[in-house]
Amino acid sequence: MSAQIPDFDSLMTITPRPPIVMMEGKGSWLRDQDGREYLDFIQGWAVNCLGHSPQVVVDAITRQATTLLNPSPAFYNAPMIRLAELIVQHSGLHKVYPACSGADANEGAIKLARKWGQIHRNGAHEIITMYNSFHGRTLATMSASGKPQWRELYEPKVPGFLKAPLNDLIVLRNLITEKTVAVMLEPIQGEGGVIPAEDDYLRELRALTREKGILLILDEVQTGIGRTGRLFGHQHAGISPDIMTLGKGLGGGVPLAALVAHRDVCCFAPGDQGGTYNGNPLMAAAGCAVMETVTAPGFLDGVNHAGDYLRAQLAGLARDYDLGEVRGRGLLVALQLNQDIAPAIVEAARDLGLLLNAPRVNILRFMPALNISRAEIDEMIRRLAASLDALGLVCAQSDEPALALMA
Ligand SMILES: *Cc1c(COP(=O)(O)O)cnc(C)c1O
Repeated sequence: MSAQIPDFDSLMTITPRPPIVMMEGKGSWLRDQDGREYLDFIQGWAVNCLGHSPQVVVDAITRQATTLLNPSPAFYNAPMIRLAELIVQHSGLHKVYPACSGADANEGAIKLARKWGQIHRNGAHEIITMYNSFHGRTLATMSASGKPQWRELYEPKVPGFLKAPLNDLIVLRNLITEKTVAVMLEPIQGEGGVIPAEDDYLRELRALTREKGILLILDEVQTGIGRTGRLFGHQHAGISPDIMTLGKGLGGGVPLAALVAHRDVCCFAPGDQGGTYNGNPLMAAAGCAVMETVTAPGFLDGVNHAGDYLRAQLAGLARDYDLGEVRGRGLLVALQLNQDIAPAIVEAARDLGLLLNAPRVNILRFMPALNISRAEIDEMIRRLAASLDALGLVCAQSDEPALALMA
């Protein structure tokens, strides 16, 4: 069927890709060049929050593409204004800079904090970030990230980032000096393996940053837009940041991100920040469609129900195969493994038509479309169980299928 494997040589190798060319996507399913179908629990790394090619996004960008593609960021456009209004309305923050990627938004957050430090805190510019964190791949956001594998890469890094262990307020408090301008973290470390910042820790951190007169920056690029069952991850802790960044799910599959700030923090002067594609109406139109869908009554209830169901089914599987703990919130879920077999499971699952992600060698991460159905979760569990069987893992319930309840 497959005519031949295409020649991939012209592309820079930036990740080990299997020799598969994806051709079509709809909802939770992808189809490759050979017509093989894959149940997608990666969704572009939590990007396609409404699944592949959702009708509302397709309609929004189709309409916008025939109306206005790019008036330039020097002029207002309607989707850009609407998107900012929607984010302000639902976040309780006041000012939005539409960006193109999570790294772009975080880069803007770092700049905004440094500018604020110059004006309000005597030139303070240091930002405390977390070990194991991920904030993007520009040089500054790599420097902000606490990814161990990046420590030596592209040295020298951008200075001014101190690292603290997540959920440890004592170490963090001791790092704060007159040079500190902000603390920056993810409500749940996504790339780090779905490691949550505890709600109490976030509340205490909010109080501490207020007490010290420094900013709290939350990177909600992965946790935002309903992923954790609330519109923003920090809402579980009942706090509000000074600066928040969004990305991934915001565009529902297209490159869109946002830097969002409290009005008191917003000190950019004209010329301080910008970018050729910021506020691009095509992307902003997609973002408006996503925001309207995710904030519609009942949508987040569906995310929470699906998340509860996914975690319960995974916990059952973990019991049957003697795997580790299930953690996460909403539809950002991880399964801890007792062995370093996550990459092998990912490969075995792909062969069986299931796309999973292994952020670490002993962790599987699940980030399906937020509108995933129970039947699709059941099918995922069935395929994952088959992948474990294919790797020779022993199921304690082997006389009855691991998922008899789903037959
Ligand atoms: C993915 C991610 C980023 C980077 O987003 P890009 O769009 O790839 O630049 C930043 N922060 C977090 C928490 C992320 O998950």
